[in-house]
Amino acid sequence: MALFNKKSKYIRINPNRSRSGDKSTLPEVPDELFAKCPGCKHTIYSKDLGVEKVCPFCAYNFRISAMDRLSLVADADTFTEFFTGIDSEDPLNFPGYVEKLAATKAKTGLDEAVLTGLATIKGQKTALAIMDSTFIMASMGTVVGEKITRLFEYATDEKLPVVIFTASGGARMQEGIMSLMQMAKISAAVKRHSNAGLLYLTILTDPTTGGVTASFAMLGDIILAEPQTMIGFAGRRVIEQTVREDLPEDFQKAEFLKAHGFVDKIVKRMELPGVIGQILKLHSQDNKGGHEHA
Ligand SMILES: [Zn+2]
Repeated sequence: MALFNKKSKYIRINPNRSRSGDKSTLPEVPDELFAKCPGCKHTIYSKDLGVEKVCPFCAYNFRISAMDRLSLVADADTFTEFFTGIDSEDPLNFPGYVEKLAATKAKTGLDEAVLTGLATIKGQKTALAIMDSTFIMASMGTVVGEKITRLFEYATDEKLPVVIFTASGGARMQEGIMSLMQMAKISAAVKRHSNAGLLYLTILTDPTTGGVTASFAMLGDIILAEPQTMIGFAGRRVIEQTVREDLPEDFQKAEFLKAHGFVDKIVKRMELPGVIGQILKLHSQDNKGGHEHA
């Protein structure tokens, strides 16, 4: 019978070939086709995540690139990029750092781990910075520090608010103490911007850790976070070993930080543009006259 004689074509996997390390002839599933949710461990067909990249099972917010974030949050065709073309030094002659930077730039199409510029969000003009965790874990080296500092200086001169999406593994170890200095440098620029009576809004996205948490991420006048975002300074294990206590399960999650007063509001990814636009509008210079007479 044709039904039983019909041979299906299966991919044959030769175990010897895979053991030899020659992967060129093995069938491959493209990395982008499926994604495993870190929240609920479901394997999800990537297209089901939608443009927002939110898990349909548990609403985990997948990490997204700075460009994807920009298209989700800024009004179409309103972004002008600033402060490009600043190159990192290699102050420690760190082995492989120059090559790693060059390869990461080529792979991501970004010139550093943060995108900075000017955009409108729901019609409100703002200075905008977006960190990209695919660029050396969005670690903060001298160029990230310089770009964000310049953004604050520009916003102070132009009397504009600053909106920053943070996502970072912390200071960039390959640049040693030069990375740590960025914390103080950016903080000083944030303070001058604040002294001018201008709004600074941060949105903490997964993960926001280390020197970024310990400086500009937590200096926002208003601090928003995406659901389930990991936010912390030192790693969980380091803290557990130091304080010799078991930490709560949700320690360093956005929800825990909100309950303890470190985060003002947790906002779903799809609702961020509307919420940010509303906050910017409430604090815009155009509105200030109205409040004085109210
Ligand atoms: Zn999930």
